[in-house]
Amino acid sequence: MPKIVVKFGGSNLRSNEEIHRIVKVVSNYNQPLIIVVSAFYGVTNFLVDALDKARHDEEIADKTVKYLFQLKNDSLVHHITDEKILKETIRLIQDQLDELKNFLHGIALTGDASSALEDHVLAYGERLSAIFLHGILKFQGLESVTAFPENIGLITDGEFGNASADFHLSTGRVREALSEDRIYVVPGFYGVSQEQKTTLFGRGGSDYAAAALARCVGASSLDIWKDVNGFLSSDPKLVSNPVLIEKLSYNEAAELAYFGAKILHPRTVEPLTDPRIPVRIFNIYGTLEVNKPLTVISREKSVQSGVVKSVTYSDDFGLLKLKGPGVGLKPGILAKVTTALHLAGINISSVLTSQISINILLAKKDLQNAFAVVSAIELSAVGKLQIDDDISIVAAVGHGITDNYGIAARIFTALASESINVLMSCSGASPIVSYYLVQTNDRTPAVKAIHHEFFEK
Ligand code: ASP
Ligand code: MG
Repeated sequence: MPKIVVKFGGSNLRSNEEIHRIVKVVSNYNQPLIIVVSAFYGVTNFLVDALDKARHDEEIADKTVKYLFQLKNDSLVHHITDEKILKETIRLIQDQLDELKNFLHGIALTGDASSALEDHVLAYGERLSAIFLHGILKFQGLESVTAFPENIGLITDGEFGNASADFHLSTGRVREALSEDRIYVVPGFYGVSQEQKTTLFGRGGSDYAAAALARCVGASSLDIWKDVNGFLSSDPKLVSNPVLIEKLSYNEAAELAYFGAKILHPRTVEPLTDPRIPVRIFNIYGTLEVNKPLTVISREKSVQSGVVKSVTYSDDFGLLKLKGPGVGLKPGILAKVTTALHLAGINISSVLTSQISINILLAKKDLQNAFAVVSAIELSAVGKLQIDDDISIVAAVGHGITDNYGIAARIFTALASESINVLMSCSGASPIVSYYLVQTNDRTPAVKAIHHEFFEK
């Protein structure tokens, strides 16, 4: 029987109410599953903070472990009334916390932590969640086994903090390790290098971990449980009546996530596209029926009547501008700049150039560093190097956007009618997205104007 991989995120692991709902969902499936869990809500951020403080505060180890113990213990006591299961689960949690405490103590003693140690420490949130859920399911008569990535052979390329799964090495092992018809509970967020070191898939990476496992076992579906109503035509915090998007293609989902839709990690669909495994999105506050997904992401490419399926935005990008009267025609500038940025570990999101200006789109968090790196290069044609961090991107996504005339015109007109100045725009880099750079002040009105044009008229 093909497996279903089911992922519960931090927003599902928040209060007793949601945990009750998770149990209900698992029993509604009524079949073998591979469950992937994130850390409890807020726990990864808490660990990031603890890791930072541990370098110069010896008491952090004890405080961290105490807090996490309390968090799990209170919840376990609420959910499990069988003495034996409760004790056993708490013992397993305690074992993990003892390890964590030792690592944090070590960091305090040396005042330092390697990338390997950082990744290892940050993954404890997920390890604790897996043990926790295993105990709760057991009490409800739902037998499961916890399966840690290091024990099932989820092997990565070894890059700390931003690993990718190595399917060549992982597929056979994972498939074999998870082959029985039972419920497995796997901590998300990480795999291991060939040397068995914990390597994180990046923040929010449990979606990607679940997708990687789905690919390894040839799952019939990856089911992601959220606390929102699937993919919508825009952020409900900004527009009043967003519509549900029932179907998205892999590429549309990837572009939406890339341009800011928080619902899915941008790399989730990567492992699933070739084997054509669909992603189904559910809401933990919904009916909990496991055959009624809100949004289905698959290879099916549908063109919606208005073409645009969703309007998304991100405030996380900024521009590095290289200005000079002839930068557009002078060969070699981009080669030098991109090499230097690459060597500094900075990812380039886009490049828009003209004769007098080269504009490099980067993550806002990398801007200062990028400025320093590029300042240090000898570039005679560049008169001025500038940072612009007061920008936002607004993107319209949907199959057909670049091959239907009039879409960009409607977007520009909608923006102009709200007196919004478009700083830069880009269409055609991908056949399904058209995006606009505006001042951050203009971001909300821009999203509203485009959404109104395509969905509210
Ligand atoms: N807990 C990790 C994070 O907060 C991974 C995840 O939630 O997907 O980044
Ligand atoms: Mg998450």
